[in-house]
Amino acid sequence: MGFGNVESSSLMSDFLRQSGGYAVIDGGLATELERHGADLNDPLWSAKCLISSPHLIKRVHLDYLEAGADILITASYQATIQGFEAKGLSTEESETLLKKSVEIACEARDIYYDRCTECSCDGMGNERILRQRPILVAASVGSYGVYLADGSEYSGNYGDAVTLETLKDFHSRRVQVLSESGADLIAFETVPNKLEAQAYAELLEEADIKIPAWFSFNSKDGVNVVSGDSLLECASIADSCKKVVAVGINCTTPRFIRGLILSIQKQSTGVSDEDFVSYISKWLDTGASLIGGCCRTTPNTIRAIKKALFHRSAALSLP
Ligand SMILES: [Zn+2]
Repeated sequence: MGFGNVESSSLMSDFLRQSGGYAVIDGGLATELERHGADLNDPLWSAKCLISSPHLIKRVHLDYLEAGADILITASYQATIQGFEAKGLSTEESETLLKKSVEIACEARDIYYDRCTECSCDGMGNERILRQRPILVAASVGSYGVYLADGSEYSGNYGDAVTLETLKDFHSRRVQVLSESGADLIAFETVPNKLEAQAYAELLEEADIKIPAWFSFNSKDGVNVVSGDSLLECASIADSCKKVVAVGINCTTPRFIRGLILSIQKQSTGVSDEDFVSYISKWLDTGASLIGGCCRTTPNTIRAIKKALFHRSAALSLP
């Protein structure tokens, strides 16, 4: 993920400076929740755990922090007011669950900082990384297609009936609630088409959202976003919104990432952790500053990324 619009928000530039130039985002949530025994067989997917097992979400967040993640992404990717209401919850209860997703991540961060204080080790090179460092909580927002749960998040095809207004109406209250929940930023993830990018950008401006955001697109062909819309056009929508502090790629095979970052800079498929890490230097050389995992990545992936970044920093600081 590259970052831009530094002048609009110092959050990301300050954070990256304090983090030594690049930072690690956490990895997959759903597979980790399942590994810990959560049942995700539900249209709400991992958001179901906000109701049934918030302690598991907190545990996975903590695992990622101890693996070296500098940014936690909340369990709100599938959490929508409309989705919760379809489960029989009231609007108020639904909004409480959205806030809860951020609170759980913030609690995990607090617990982590306490553990860092208690631990007298150097915090690097061990199985668990316990080191005081800036940690951001990013409130995840999945696309309209995630709510539809019909695969359209991976096709970007919502049909002609869905307009810019449909998408703005759908996301408006959710984005507002998440922006007032204590999160440091909003992560619009797996944005599948230009229309939804436009809807997010307009919402950020019109609703006077007080925290910055990043946009992360997904691609099947390494050139365009999944709908076939030009990544360059999508990225320029994100880039022209003053609230956007980073633009990137997620849920895309690592071998495409370098080319995609390059094309953004101009204006999973089950890989092993070693394979994943082998791409990192290229992404950094291309100008990426935020790197993390998506579907099926684990704390081990994040630990490997953290190590690779640590060794790179150490190599760069040699005389
Ligand atoms: Zn993914």
